[in-house]
Amino acid sequence: MTKYIFVAGGVISGVGKGVTTASIAKLLQACGFKVTAIKIDPYLNYDAGTLRPTEHGEVWVTDDGGEIDQDLGNYERFLGIDLPKKNCLTSGQIYKTVIDRERKGEYLGETVQFIPHIPEEIKKRIIEASKGYEIAIIEIGGTIGDFENIPFLFAAKRLERDLGKENIIYVLVTYLPIPSHMGEMKTKPTQQAIRMLSESGIFPDFIVCRSKMHVDAVRKKKIETYANIKSEHVISEPDIDTIYRIPLDLAAEKLPEKILAELELEPKKSPDLSQWAELVDRVANPKKAVRVAMVGKYVATGDFSLSDSYISVNESLKHAGAALNCKVQIDWIDAKKLEDKANVAKMLKDFEGIIVPGGFGASGVEGKINAIQYAREHKVPYLGLCYGMQLAVIEFARNICGLAGANTTENEKDTPHPVIDMLESQREILKQSDFGGTMRLGAYVAALRKGTLIADLYKDRMKEDAPKIAALEKDPAQKFRIGKTPTDFAVIERHRHRYEVNPQYIEQIEAKGMLFSGHHVKLDGTKLMEFMELPGHPYFTGTQAHPEFKSGLGRPAPLFYGFVKACCESK
Ligand code: GLN
Repeated sequence: MTKYIFVAGGVISGVGKGVTTASIAKLLQACGFKVTAIKIDPYLNYDAGTLRPTEHGEVWVTDDGGEIDQDLGNYERFLGIDLPKKNCLTSGQIYKTVIDRERKGEYLGETVQFIPHIPEEIKKRIIEASKGYEIAIIEIGGTIGDFENIPFLFAAKRLERDLGKENIIYVLVTYLPIPSHMGEMKTKPTQQAIRMLSESGIFPDFIVCRSKMHVDAVRKKKIETYANIKSEHVISEPDIDTIYRIPLDLAAEKLPEKILAELELEPKKSPDLSQWAELVDRVANPKKAVRVAMVGKYVATGDFSLSDSYISVNESLKHAGAALNCKVQIDWIDAKKLEDKANVAKMLKDFEGIIVPGGFGASGVEGKINAIQYAREHKVPYLGLCYGMQLAVIEFARNICGLAGANTTENEKDTPHPVIDMLESQREILKQSDFGGTMRLGAYVAALRKGTLIADLYKDRMKEDAPKIAALEKDPAQKFRIGKTPTDFAVIERHRHRYEVNPQYIEQIEAKGMLFSGHHVKLDGTKLMEFMELPGHPYFTGTQAHPEFKSGLGRPAPLFYGFVKACCESK
């Protein structure tokens, strides 16, 4: 039977509830349990695909094509497992299912109500996503006291009644501010969060206290008394240098053992985090450093965090850096500023590497293309992710193949040379559906070309992916992810895009020296370019995929590893 851990947040959002959830999951996994993690997002969007990136940061993509909140990214990065899209529940999905069912008459004339029908559907989905796991950890998005949280808390309570309290625990991740004019850590907001949670009949079994510094004994005592829990269940989680240290800190607080005891479980093994600790040490105290220019589209106003839009790329660079004992310092370069050619060398000359990450639309595109040209001509290591590969192909077509005005039809419908174009089959999908879910989404298999740089970088990953490809082959619903691609020398990466390298230009481009080192063959026989490299350049690679969705500490994504290594060498 599955045991459940619900994690809710108190006081304010953004204090690291997701990372705490991922860390707890990792620790329980290290104790020998089969653990999964589930995110509940209380918004009404059906999925994160249509959320405004400037408010919500990057969209995470799962193997099965889900467009999900980035917290799922933290779970995957920490747990090292591929989670399916059903592990992200939104209020939108819940309400839609209930209303659709009502319209089909499946409630047999019952009055369909907020309570109990909504929590019942939530409960059903949690149980479904937890099947096959010994422990499921469920993070409830938002903050206690939000109206939209209520049905989820209600569902947790129902599950507790069905399964018994020994099978469910609650963790409250709260925040203890230290107002600067007082210089004192305040527990009052946490007390209020505890009271609000209790209004749903839920009493936390553990309280994780996020704050600038350690929570002292006096304050721990206050919280302990107020929440009426054991003092060793009040856990201090102060700010630290890197999020990857959190599992180590929580392990030092013996949190996994305490949680297991509360769930009436014995650890199957004592967690060995020595390798993880070594990597964390390298993240915190690297031997060398390189500077990387991330040329992207940034919103200059407001106070949202710019770097959040590319969080997986940032983390992937950290993972590669940890493997190479190298700090990767990322500078955010607004592509618009590079549209003026006079700025390009000035702004890019101090970097060991250049990345153009994924993106959409025409804004800043010519600046990105200028940056790519600079990287190619000055032999600066370059990594192009999705849009970054498409634009590298455009740059090469214009400046090396002599295809003046080459472009993507995403930005210029009537370009004389549509080297990046939407393929007919994708156009069909777009015509049939609404705007949500019209992209090539999720894992696709790519056959690699032997003897290429890409094949060399992927040699270990290829072995890891072989059983995953075999599993796809057996699943009729997922077989399209292989299509007609040869699978004997192949890898899997995740996708999120509409446009592709136009097959009509491949011969012409390759004749001039750009090498497409991996491809996918669709069921209809269309050949899609998945990887690109430039022989003779120290490191110039691109992929139509998003390798940043499959990177973790201790298992860096091959293209990022190759990129950071080349940056180190170029220095
Ligand atoms: N805009 C491009 C496309 O839709 C690239 C998308 C991306 O970078 N994720 O194909």
